[in-house]
Amino acid sequence: MDLAARVHSVQQRLAQACERSGRDPGAVTLLAVTKGQPPEVVRAAVECGLSLFGENKVQEAKAKIPLCPGRSRWHMIGHLQTNKARDAVRCFELIESVDSLHLAQEIQGCAEKAGRTLPVLLEVNVAGESAKYGYRPEQLLAELEALNGLRRLEIHGLMTLAPWTPDAEKVRPIFRRLRELKEQCEQALGAPLPHLSMGMTGDFEVAIEEGATLVRIGTAIFGERPPPGKVPRQPAPPPSNAGGAADLESRGP
Ligand SMILES: *Cc1c(COP(=O)(O)O)cnc(C)c1O
Repeated sequence: MDLAARVHSVQQRLAQACERSGRDPGAVTLLAVTKGQPPEVVRAAVECGLSLFGENKVQEAKAKIPLCPGRSRWHMIGHLQTNKARDAVRCFELIESVDSLHLAQEIQGCAEKAGRTLPVLLEVNVAGESAKYGYRPEQLLAELEALNGLRRLEIHGLMTLAPWTPDAEKVRPIFRRLRELKEQCEQALGAPLPHLSMGMTGDFEVAIEEGATLVRIGTAIFGERPPPGKVPRQPAPPPSNAGGAADLESRGP
């Protein structure tokens, strides 16, 4: 299957999941995860009608986004170190991975300097996995007021990564819990939160059935990712001692 066919197939599965759960397909946005993919692939995805993309590393995004079509829009979806907050505020339209008050304060400072307001999602580690980033639900509720007090941040909702499983039904309770947590946050804030970012290649249909408004999909659109660190890179220059010809050229007349 080529890229256009894979995009079409994902969109069709998304629409069917909406239909099963009585939701308007327009209420779910497909975000294509382009980590490990070069700008040419993003360009091809834009040609296929996609416009929203996600990256999980600031360094990679900073190099890639300027080489992508101007109409592409970008979300930060990976763990953000405070020392990368400034670049993140420059690169992204929204940060989905705010996972501490300390990070939120850093983003607030950078947004203030940049003279902008930044929409964010709060990342929640619903299953309490030790290897994952994200707020524990109790911690999130405890810090919500302080987070909401940061004037340059607009809290647009919650995000989670479900534990990996070959059987997506197993993580349905995780998605349901995130939706309930969003409702608790809405009550506490006295305002609606538009977004629930949940669901990836292996579990997005279940996430939609449980109320996802943003699904973050990489593999089902782009295929298996190249190993990390292998792309996108310039070809290496030939070694300087590669032999006769190069040596002669560099010596000059
Ligand atoms: C890589 C990644 C995805 C996409 O994963 P796939 O299984 O390839 O669809 C979604 N969300 C986050 C935060 C990711 O890092």
